Amino acid sequence: MTPIHVIPLANGGAGGPALNLLEHLAAALARVFRAPCRIRPDIFDVSFALDEGRHQYYSTAILRRMERVCEPGVRVLGVTGCDLFVPVLTFVFGEAQLDGACATVSLARLKEEAYGMPPREDLLRERLLKEAVHELGHTFGLRHCADWRCVMTSSHAVERLDVKGVDFCEGCRKRVFQDRYL
Ligand SMILES: [Zn+2]
Ligand SMILES: [Zn+2]
Repeated sequence: MTPIHVIPLANGGAGGPALNLLEHLAAALARVFRAPCRIRPDIFDVSFALDEGRHQYYSTAILRRMERVCEPGVRVLGVTGCDLFVPVLTFVFGEAQLDGACATVSLARLKEEAYGMPPREDLLRERLLKEAVHELGHTFGLRHCADWRCVMTSSHAVERLDVKGVDFCEGCRKRVFQDRYL
């Protein structure tokens, strides 16, 4: 299976997401995708993608720039504490290149603190994993799934994220792992 690289992203190239959070994510992604998954040591600077008016970072621009550090045959997942957006939406949890190499996810709106609640590390890890699997699923060519339990169902609110599972439905699973069915 295609190797996955997790890349920490931050403004100014310093102060990326907590390493233990990334380590937990990488171990879980390796299990889900049955693929080697490692964390790249350098923090990727996303200051170029800041929209000063919105105080948010343009995720499509980040993906385009991440292509430069993408090795052939590898999927890269950028993880950031920065709040992401695309112009037509107020925010995105993440974005991916459909059938491409790059995906990104933001912790900003996965944290309970964003909703005025006390922090919950277990819930943050679970939401991050679901969102990461979802975006990486897009890089494997998957579109949104009508099965609300499937990780590929679209979720634009944390409530929706919390009710869906971390797993692919049977149809999505077959498409992701198609090489194993040949
Ligand atoms: Zn999606
Ligand atoms: Zn599905």
